[in-house]
Amino acid sequence: MSTVIAIDGPAGSGKSTLARALAERLGYDVLDTGAMYRALTVECLRRGVDVTSNEDVSRLARSIVVTTLPEVSVDGHSVGHLLRTPEVNVAVSSVAALPGAREAMVAAQRAQAAASTRGLVAEGRDLTTVVFPDATLKIFLTASLDERARRRGDESRDSVARRDHLDSTRAASPLTQAPDARVLDTTGRSVADLVEEVVEWLANTTSH
Ligand code: C5P
Repeated sequence: MSTVIAIDGPAGSGKSTLARALAERLGYDVLDTGAMYRALTVECLRRGVDVTSNEDVSRLARSIVVTTLPEVSVDGHSVGHLLRTPEVNVAVSSVAALPGAREAMVAAQRAQAAASTRGLVAEGRDLTTVVFPDATLKIFLTASLDERARRRGDESRDSVARRDHLDSTRAASPLTQAPDARVLDTTGRSVADLVEEVVEWLANTTSH
């Protein structure tokens, strides 16, 4: 497999922004795994599937194809405009806590990584711990709750805090800091500055 930069962190810590900027700078592909759990949630809500049922959600997750490039889609239908509604913000952490949903999404994520020949920047909650334990570089992003809520302008501070709590305390692949991940606090820092720091880390990692 080519170079993988795996990034985890709570909501609004800057994962998607940093991942996109790094991918552009390095010429890598980008994998937004939060968008995959959101797309699965959109499809559950559309079909009236009980988002607390591991059996029902797993069956659906195994029967659909969720892709993120060139746009987030379910079975080829674009769902990008539906990913950040309040309904999805409420339901996504429930869906993502189900082992069967995670199994299907992780398999799809690894398949996308295997198909990438340019290098990959993958971001989410369990990329450094579960999906890519052998990633070239592992990063754990943090930022203050105030700044994270500000960045998620379309989502309330309470909703962000609620998702973080659910994501960090669930039994299946909770958000945790991998022992070998580098911690990066993005509070008050520019994207360009963060990209430079990570590119330097990558150069040091791959030259050893
Ligand atoms: O990153 P984003 O905020 O879009 O993620 C939405 C939700 O998807 C998270 O709150 C979490 O419940 C779930 N998620 C996950 N594992 C990932 C990525 C996202 O459980 N790797």
